[in-house]
Order: sequence, then C-alpha cells, then structure tokens
Amino acid sequence: MKQILVTGGAGFIGSHLCERLLNEGNIVICMDNYFTGCKQNVIHLQNNPNFELVRHDVTFPYYVEVDQIYNLACPASPVHYQFDPVSTVKTSVIGAINMLGLAKRIKARILQASTSEVYGDPAIHPQEESYWGNVNPIGLRSCYDEGKRCAETLFMDYHRQNKVDIRLIRIFNTYGPRMRPDDGRVVSNFIVQALKGEDLTIYGDGSQTRSFQYVDDLIEGMIRMMATEGITGPVNLGNPGEFTMLELAEKVIRLTHSPSRIIHLPLPSDDPKQRKPDITLAQTKLNWTPNIPLEEGLKPTISYFRELLEKTV
Ligand code: NAD
Ligand code: UDP
Repeated sequence: MKQILVTGGAGFIGSHLCERLLNEGNIVICMDNYFTGCKQNVIHLQNNPNFELVRHDVTFPYYVEVDQIYNLACPASPVHYQFDPVSTVKTSVIGAINMLGLAKRIKARILQASTSEVYGDPAIHPQEESYWGNVNPIGLRSCYDEGKRCAETLFMDYHRQNKVDIRLIRIFNTYGPRMRPDDGRVVSNFIVQALKGEDLTIYGDGSQTRSFQYVDDLIEGMIRMMATEGITGPVNLGNPGEFTMLELAEKVIRLTHSPSRIIHLPLPSDDPKQRKPDITLAQTKLNWTPNIPLEEGLKPTISYFRELLEKTV
C-alpha cells in the first residue's frame, strides 16, 4: 500500500486514475481547485476511507507526506486553457516547481502528465520522443504547449540537479466517460451534438488527423510508467490509430444513430494538421500497448453522455 498524491484528481483522467489506485489498495489524496474538474467525478470514491479530497490550487505550495505524486493539474481542452492563458502557464510552470520541490523534500517519485502538444504542428510523422517539435511560442495555444514544455524542462533539471525520481509521459488525445459535456474537445463535442440532434461542428475541412486513446488504456500506461525502474521518459502514451475529423464525425453519427448533419466552421489558429504517436518506447520499456480501438471506446463514452443528458433534461 502506497500513499499517493494526484493533482488534478477531480478531472477527467485524474478521477479514473484515483479510482484505479484505490482499487489497488493505495491511499489516495486527490488535490484539485475545480477549475475544470468537479466533486461529482469522484463522488463515488468519497466513502472509501483510503480516499481524501483536498481543495487546493497547485500554484500555491502544498505539503503532504506521500510516496508518489501524479501531477495532472492543468486544464487540457483548448477552450478552457485559453480562457485564462496566464493562469494556464502558471499552473504548468509554478505547479511543476511546487510539486517537484515537494518530491525533492519528501523523496517521492513524481510523474508529469505532459502532452503530445509539445510536438506542436509536427513536421515528422508519426511523432517519436526524440523529435523536438514545431511549436509557435507566441500563439493562442502557446500558454498550454510552452507551459508543458517548460514543465518538462523543470522535471529534467530537478532530476539532473537534485536527483528527483521523475517520470515524464506525453499523453496523446484521450477520451472516455467523465469528460465534461462542455469540455470543447472534439470527441465530447461530436457525441453531445449527435445525441442532441445538432449539427456536428468540424473545424476546417476535417482532413486534420488525431489519434484517440481510450482512458482505460492510458491509465494502465501511467501505472506501468510509475512502477518501472530506471526510466525517466519522456514516453509517448497514445493509440496509433489515426483518423481525420471527418472520419470521427461519421463514426459518431453512425454509432449514435443520429439524424445530425456535418457543418464546417473556421479552423482555430495553429491547429496541428496531423498527430500520431510512435509508441515503440512504451511497448519495449513498459510492455504496454493500447487495446481499445476507437469504435469500442466510443460506445461506453456515448452511453455515459446519453445518461448524463437524460438526467439534465
Ligand atoms: P481536465 O481538465 O478534466 O483535468 C484537469 C484537472 O486539473 C481538473 O480537475 C482541474 O480542475 C484541475 N486543475 C486545473 N488547474 C488547477 C490548479 N491550478 N490547481 C489544482 N487543480 C487544477 O483534463 P484531463 O483531460 O483530465 O487532463 C489531465 C492532465 O492530462 C492535464 O495535465 C492534461 O494536460 C494532460 N493531458 C490530457 C490529454 C487528454 O487528451 N485528455 C492529453 C494530453 C495531456
Ligand atoms: N475540432 C473540431 N470540432 C470541434 C472540436 C474540435 O473539428 O467541435 C477539431 C480541432 O480543430 C482539432 C481536432 O478536432 O483539429 C482535435 O481538437 P481537440 O480540441 O479535441 O484537441 P487538440 O486540438 O488539442 O488535439
């Protein structure tokens, strides 16, 4: 049994992680300021005596004795991270400094939820960890991309300078139950639009690609990364299946049996044209491969949103 701090634990990925860590018999401290997460995501864990929920902003120092830290605190949807971009940078950078300082002091192992966004609009395809990326440092997405890049720098420097035991993962587009209906990311947008019979909003011509990973596959990869000795990362965690947004929209319409149609809206600035992980490193070092194809993962995600929308009407 380990004591584990999960920052951003009341968010989409964080809530699944807390659940899994508790199921494995650990003591979990879930820290969140509820910027995009909510208590509802972890309400089913509240009766577990090994679970503790703490309202705290990761940009302020926090002290607790734990064995491991998963640092997930940061809005992940472009809509939410661009709402207050200065706060997004502070969350990534000051949050990383605070959590690394804590890890150094209490000698905890710390994992950073980095992102495929560090590759920006990638000039090489698929993206492997050795690629340095193609990121606009002054654009609308920079608060997130550069914040996460700086956090990676801090992790590596705390490791080299202070021997902090770090793990860096680069997460590719992940979806599943407990995403917010107003999250703004493409999978939740399309499903909610289809279930409501509204037009599905494709930004641009829909030829841009993404690789979508179901949340359970990601959680397995995160746990393996934390448990593996002798590796700092960065390690890509994503599903190499690559789809255009047009293909995704058509799948969602078919799986929801929706009468919705597709409309096209302007493409946001700096929107990456393609994204697909090279997961050789995760396969060889963590013995990890995602098992859930897009259609299989969309089904429980659609059921989740269907139930949620039925409750709210
Ligand atoms: P999310 O928005 O659901 O979760 C983020 C959580 O962090 C929320 O609960 C939010 O309230 C909390 N938070 C935000 N700012 C905070 C602060 N200052 N102090 C404390 N808590 C704060 O998003 P998610 O999809 O669950 O993403 C979780 C992590 O994984 C993020 O760090 C994100 O960058 C990373 N990630 C996610 C994806 C993805 O596709 N979902 C891809 C790459 C990286
Ligand atoms: N997108 C879209 N319609 C939407 C939301 C997003 O076509 O309603 C597109 C978006 O422009 C991008 C892709 O879907 O090309 C993935 O967007 P998301 O915000 O989910 O993630 P990210 O761009 O950060 O990978």
